[in-house]
Amino acid sequence: MYKPDHVKTSPDFPIPDTMRAWVLGDPDQLTLTTKPVPVPKRAEVLVRIDAVAICATDLEIIHHGPPAMIQGGQPFNKNFTPGHEYMGTVAALGPGVDEYKIGQRVTVEIHAGCGQCKRCREGMYTACHNYGLNYGDVDKGHRANGFTTDGGFAEYAVNSINTLVRVSDEMSDEEATLVVTAGTAMYGLTELGGLVAGESVVVTGPGPIGLLGVAVAKALGAQPVILTGTRDNRLQIGRELGADFVINARNEDPVAAVRKLNGGKGVDYVIECSGAPDAINEAARMVNRGGRICLAAFPSKPAEVDIAYLVRNNIYVYGIRGEGKSATHRAEAFMAQKRFDATKVHTHTFALEDLPTALRYARERIEDAIKVVVKTHGHAAANRVAAE
Ligand SMILES: [Zn+2]
Ligand SMILES: [Zn+2]
Repeated sequence: MYKPDHVKTSPDFPIPDTMRAWVLGDPDQLTLTTKPVPVPKRAEVLVRIDAVAICATDLEIIHHGPPAMIQGGQPFNKNFTPGHEYMGTVAALGPGVDEYKIGQRVTVEIHAGCGQCKRCREGMYTACHNYGLNYGDVDKGHRANGFTTDGGFAEYAVNSINTLVRVSDEMSDEEATLVVTAGTAMYGLTELGGLVAGESVVVTGPGPIGLLGVAVAKALGAQPVILTGTRDNRLQIGRELGADFVINARNEDPVAAVRKLNGGKGVDYVIECSGAPDAINEAARMVNRGGRICLAAFPSKPAEVDIAYLVRNNIYVYGIRGEGKSATHRAEAFMAQKRFDATKVHTHTFALEDLPTALRYARERIEDAIKVVVKTHGHAAANRVAAE
């Protein structure tokens, strides 16, 4: 039985010595294997993973590698477990931890910075200067689970206490996996200045971050909130999450439509979540002079940018990485208060052993999949009951 030195466990919460975990081999090659259950160090806990959502970045990592970085390089064939949008139950406490109790339900944010670099000291831990430096004699203790350290496509993971967010029993496992997605949208709005009540906001691209970006902007009091995209079913979900107007870019010019809705002047903020090659130029023409653009997605190739237009109009452009400045805590507070229903973006659930199918649903958007969740506990059993 699992009983490492200096780690607090509970007889009510027995932990096995080994666990099931998916491991990345060559690109696109995942194998379900057995690993030792990891051991938390100071200021860390062991989390029993109950559910994990699949993110477009997981697909990117499994196929291309970056932004994952293991031992200073590509994540392939390094016994690395991807997956980063998970929730679960605190199962064991590392030395000195009294902030959490065994048995508490938590969801996680991804980045635990090194805590000692310039950016970490400023609270910008998702931009830690020691990203991925957590091995050998350059070990700065940086963790970004599913990126630079083992992640959530497994039964257990180690998390810094700074990455934990308590969730109430009323919130389902599936909904709790979406806190970090809403937290990313919240971070974008935080970096844009945060005070969006009564300001006009456009969200471009109705993926999970875009849709929850609509929900968070609306919950913060933005008016109007406009969503642009090309799929009517996703735009409809955007409406249900609070968009005042939706624009299908297949049917009309989104820039002209946005400007028309704002008396010809354009909006105060754009949150760009589409990653389309020309999105930044379109966003620049959607905002008014002095407006702000947050880039939360990116094209796969370098894009051509009309810099003269940005300069002449004093337009601010922000790149954001992840879910910094404790934005997940603010997002969870909105969700706990039921200010929006994040589960509208959750479409499918699979068991841990069916991860390859779950990834295919997410990648190919089978049955209009948006957020696909994998459940480590319960789901397979539920399926068996249904089959009997
Ligand atoms: Zn993600
Ligand atoms: Zn740092």
